[in-house]
Formats: sequence, C-alpha cells, structure tokens
Amino acid sequence: MLGDMATATTKRAHVGIVGAGQLARMTLQAAIPLALRVGVLAERPDDGAALVASEVSVGSPNDPAAVVAFARQCDVVTFDHELVPPACLNALVAAGVCLRPSAATMRLAQNKRAQREVFAGLDLPVPPFRILSGAVDVEEVVGILGLPVVLKAASGGYDGQGVWIADRADEARRIVDELTARGIDVVAEQWVPIERELAILVARRPCGDAIVYPLVETIQVDGICREVVLPAPVPAPVASEAEAIARRIAEASSVVGILAVELFVAGGRLLVNEIATRPHNSGHYSIEGCVTSQFEQHLRAILDWPLGATAPTAPAVATVNVLGGPTAANPFATLPVALAIEGAHVHLYGKGPRPGRKLGHVTVCAADVETARRRARAAAELLSGAPIPVEVKP
Ligand code: ADP
Repeated sequence: MLGDMATATTKRAHVGIVGAGQLARMTLQAAIPLALRVGVLAERPDDGAALVASEVSVGSPNDPAAVVAFARQCDVVTFDHELVPPACLNALVAAGVCLRPSAATMRLAQNKRAQREVFAGLDLPVPPFRILSGAVDVEEVVGILGLPVVLKAASGGYDGQGVWIADRADEARRIVDELTARGIDVVAEQWVPIERELAILVARRPCGDAIVYPLVETIQVDGICREVVLPAPVPAPVASEAEAIARRIAEASSVVGILAVELFVAGGRLLVNEIATRPHNSGHYSIEGCVTSQFEQHLRAILDWPLGATAPTAPAVATVNVLGGPTAANPFATLPVALAIEGAHVHLYGKGPRPGRKLGHVTVCAADVETARRRARAAAELLSGAPIPVEVKP
C-alpha cells in the first residue's frame, strides 16, 4: 500500500480524486510531469476535470457505494471539496482505503463549530463567539456579542452562503430558529471591523513534515474571493504570526495535503476565520507565483513524498478570478485579447458561463503589486465579458 510508496521506484502511484471540479482539473495538470495515474469521480461527464482526465468514473460523489467502488481502485484517495457527506466518509473508513486527508480532518474542515472549538482550544485569536444549538436564548447571546452579529451555519455553507449579518436581535432569532429547527448548529460571532482578509497555505506529509507558503491578501466581494495578492501588505511580525498559526493548525488537525487558513486583520490584530483542507482558491497564484504549486504540493504531501520549495518566483503576484458577467458572455470570445496582456496566465475551468459563476482565473507576476494587479484585472475583466478597450485589441 501507500506506506511503501515513498521508497518504491517501480510502481506508478494511482491517486483518486472524489469530485471533478476546477481543483481536480488543476491537480491533474500538476500530476502530468510526475507521471502519476489520477482518476476522478465525476458527477457528470462534462465536469471541469472529467473533460481532461484520462480516467473518469461517473457517479455521485455523495453516494457511499459509488465513492467506495471508486476508492478501492486507488492507492490513495483525496477530495476536491469539503462537503463530502458523513455517510461517504464513514463508508470509506469502513472500506479501509487510504484517505488523505483523513476522515477526522475532513469532519473538522466541514464544521465551523468544530473549527472554532479547536482554534479556541489552541488559544488562537478568534472573534468572540458562542455556539448555538437546540433551544437557546438568542437575545442573551446578542447581549454578549453586540449588534450587528454574524451568524454562520456550522455546516453546509461556502462562498458566503450560510453566513448572515443580523442588525437586530429579532432578525438574529429568526435566522437561528430556522437553522436550529433544521438541526444545524449556529456559530454566532461578534461582528469585527475587518481591515483586510488574508490567507496562508501549509502543506503537511503523513510523517509530519510541513511547509508554509507566503501570506497573501484576499479581496472578497459578496462573500466570494475576487483577488489574491502577494505579498500581503502587512508588517513582517504579522506574517510570521500567520505562519505560526498555520503550522499549529496543520499539526493539531493532523492534515495531510494542503491546508488553507483564512484570517482577518481587525484592529491591527490577526484573527483566525476558517480552514479548508484541500487546494484552495487563495492558492491558485502558486501555479506561476511559487516554486511549487499548491496542486503539485498536495500530490507530493498525500503520497508522502518530499515537499517542494514554496518561495515566490517574483516580487509581486496577483490572481484575479474570472466570474461570469451579467450577460454570461463566453470567455472564449475574449480569450485572444486577454492573452495579449503582458504576463497574463489564463486558466479557464471549462465551465459554461453563468452570471457570478467562477469560470477561471488570471495570474500575473510582476515587479510590483500595482502592475501585477492591473494586468490581471484587465485580463479577467475581458474574460468576464467587459468591453474590449481599444489599446488591447489584438
Ligand atoms: P464562507 O465559509 O462561506 O466563506 P466565511 O466564514 O469566510 O464564510 O464568511 C464570509 C465572509 O463574511 C468573510 O469573508 C467576511 O468578509 C465576512 N465575515 C465573516 N465573519 C465575520 C465577522 N466575525 N465579522 C465581520 N465579517 C465577517
């Protein structure tokens, strides 16, 4: 099994990815130079990764039988999303397949309540919070945390879905009642005046070796990450603290693979928001912007192979996400014009355009942040269907 993989030289490792979205697609790309065999379990044959994978199993990633049948063919199984149902995780554990990250780590990543409790147990800085489950006195909690109050569904949310900001106690009560009636715990958090949002990746092997990536700033609009910028504009001690936090969470969660830690800066202080235990949108910059991309690193880590260097390849890197524009214009129409922008590395995920949908991203490495950001934004806007400025017409 995989334990021998670190020393074996003849066997081609067979990795299985449950899910076939853009993260799986970019992981496949990183697997090519390592000559890995990678299969994906795709919901549909036209999922982003299924379109490019050489081994595609079509089946529901939410169906325990389909997931186990897929996993049994692989040496190691990983995930391109967190929202793997508990029944699937349990079935994978029962089948004895090699899961990386483990089911326990996945359960932590799926649950904001569990994360808050682990972070607080490690004495990491977090916004003041209360866990609301079952019958609770919302007014009392609001009295402690103040208004507005941030309410988060402990499980099932992503990209800001599952997060509410209530300005009044009765509004908070209505949201909490609705969620608790559906059996969903709520994390109530003090609303903090966020000055910046940051993210940091760490990769960890089963043997415990870990390496951190540079701290980045993430710019979020309506709960969706729009831009990622390196270096993060924070003093060096803040960056060092973020690194230390990321390492401690990686160790405490026993993660194997990539872990992304999302942080806030409020009142000049770092606060831990949440984690993801897979390659992350905030790390796409690493494909061109670091010596080893997060996708290659995830593969190295889950195979218990030596981790690669994470140093930046340029003084400044900016990644801008391509979101479907209001007219749902097809990015192929503007691709050649976007490619005319100096240094623009375009990644399209092969998804049909819909307003607001993440269709791809553009990364630019440059001598300074402003240049990198300006070029990446221009290319991403073109791909989203913005009018083509005269000076960049091909
Ligand atoms: P998701 O898991 O859906 O990404 P997050 O927990 O990251 O949800 O919250 C979404 C966004 O809501 C954050 O990016 C941040 O802008 C805002 N937010 C979350 N928690 C707080 C808080 N305690 N105070 C102020 N804003 C917050």
